[in-house]
Amino acid sequence: NRRIVLASRPKGEPTADNFRMEEQQIPTPADGEVLLKVKYLSLDPYMRGRMSAAKSYAAPVEIGDTMVGGTVAEVVESRHPKFKAGQTVLSYSGWQEYAISNGKDLHVLDPDAAPPSTALGVMGMPGFTAYAGLLTIGKPKKGETVVVAAATGPVGSAVGQIAQIKGARAVGIAGGPEKCKALIEEFGFDVALDHRDPNFAQNLKEAVPEGIDVYFENVGGAVWKAVQPLLNDFARIPVCGLVAHYNEVAPPEGPDRLPGFMGQMLSKHLTFQGFIQSDFIEQYPEFLKEMGGWLAQGRVKYREDIREGLENAPEAFIGMLTGGNFGKLIVKVSE
Ligand code: NDP
Repeated sequence: NRRIVLASRPKGEPTADNFRMEEQQIPTPADGEVLLKVKYLSLDPYMRGRMSAAKSYAAPVEIGDTMVGGTVAEVVESRHPKFKAGQTVLSYSGWQEYAISNGKDLHVLDPDAAPPSTALGVMGMPGFTAYAGLLTIGKPKKGETVVVAAATGPVGSAVGQIAQIKGARAVGIAGGPEKCKALIEEFGFDVALDHRDPNFAQNLKEAVPEGIDVYFENVGGAVWKAVQPLLNDFARIPVCGLVAHYNEVAPPEGPDRLPGFMGQMLSKHLTFQGFIQSDFIEQYPEFLKEMGGWLAQGRVKYREDIREGLENAPEAFIGMLTGGNFGKLIVKVSE
């Protein structure tokens, strides 16, 4: 059983040295437990936070512990009354090939209903993040303008498409021309903008002649800076993630922009609300139903970036933090 543990805490951008591959015996399930064989491992930006000792909404991974993560797995041996060998389940087994579970974190998946890997993306946590954050906090209305970055990723792509289903205009921001092309051709955004373009701020201004009503904040950084002056009165800003800052080691140089920001928040009646998707967990059944319907109708498209082999997880994860992925990043751990 191979597993990847946290070897050391990163300073700034993680490196391969922060991870270590270990090999152990395949564990044996006790009474009330199942043995899982991991098929797919989800790689998500929040894992950068878990690598740090800094206080956050979830406990950090300890040095020497297996890296955490959502997984799709097969039950290979069951000593639990509710599960049987051969079932495909959504689990939280982390970066390893085999895991033991007491069943509490498991959800049985129907492999005929949707490809099991989608339970880690569009039909899973990231899709739900987009759905709950956009609809509960962003509340897009017909004819409004919704802006989102990291727009080819699993959260951003769902945000743009759900915004359009609600009748809003979707402006997607991504890194590079290839991703921008996908925003238009695959996901059907109304506008695609490259945040690496030196004229990005001006391009954004021209793309939103009526201002921005909802900014779904995934990244922070230069994108936020360009968005801020374009926000309309009563704009809503679901604060979902700040991936442009996750590898930072020190606060930015002055001047202090906070008073200016607070002033704008006041005078423009802005609503900012930070959230963790689990805040809205009671909406999960409704999400599965609605998103499942939109997928079946072809109204929501998704893209996966699947890498082969557990050993490639660290490199794929490190790359994702600066845009190395193109779609929901998943590692195929076994057949
Ligand atoms: P993605 O697959 O979209 O990966 C992250 C993307 O961020 C990269 O591919 C890159 O895309 C973009 N990015 C990185 N650095 C920058 C930068 N400096 N400027 C602009 N874009 C940048 O990730 P997810 O869809 O899984 O997650 C999106 C966001 O949602 C993250 O911030 C994540 O932490 C957050 N999140 C929050 C949750 C919550 O409960 N609050 C739950 C799940 C996710 P590109 O190449 O286009 O620049």
